[in-house]
Amino acid sequence: MNLFETVRTNVKAIDVVLMAGFQPNRSKMICCPFHNDKHPSMKVDRRYFCFGCGAKGDAIDFVSNYYGLRLKEAAEKIASAFSLSYDNSRYSDCVQKAVVAKRNEYQIWAEKKCELFAQLSRIHEQLRKMKIEYAPKDREDSEWSPLFVMAAKELTYVDYLYDYCMFEAAEDELKLKIDEITKEMEKIEKRMYDTESGISGSDAGQIRERLAV
Ligand SMILES: [Zn+2]
Repeated sequence: MNLFETVRTNVKAIDVVLMAGFQPNRSKMICCPFHNDKHPSMKVDRRYFCFGCGAKGDAIDFVSNYYGLRLKEAAEKIASAFSLSYDNSRYSDCVQKAVVAKRNEYQIWAEKKCELFAQLSRIHEQLRKMKIEYAPKDREDSEWSPLFVMAAKELTYVDYLYDYCMFEAAEDELKLKIDEITKEMEKIEKRMYDTESGISGSDAGQIRERLAV
């Protein structure tokens, strides 16, 4: 049990009222410390309730209001006064942190996956445009543009990667492979860049402009 549970289970309002030095009468009534009370108008038992001002609560509330402490401080004060041992391992804090960590983990993964698919789509679109743009004009076209050859080849590969990531790989498998796949994408971009660079500078500039997605 945590601090609050331990205190609430073990200590009644009347226990802390006695601890604070009040002497309940035979009807378990005391003069209310929360309003100017001349005659006992606060009933104290497991909880307390004042018929004069309506103040009410349990042991922790009483100590909190009487000593001007926060609820946690009040609970700690009671636990200490009654020598209650409670689970102080900050279990709930740990659970809370684990929940947050798990949430972050999911979010990071979702973003990573999103980035990968965006990259795949972008490269796919660039290659598709390249392939159309540099396709041989007719059958007699003896010399195929290196850009067309590269685009056709890489497009097949990107298609394969896309299908794999999107439909084939299980989530856990994708988690293991995502860095590898991202590196593959970088390699493809490098090959695209190298093929473009193989063409004269001004042409490469024009190509990039035309293919800009
Ligand atoms: Zn009162």
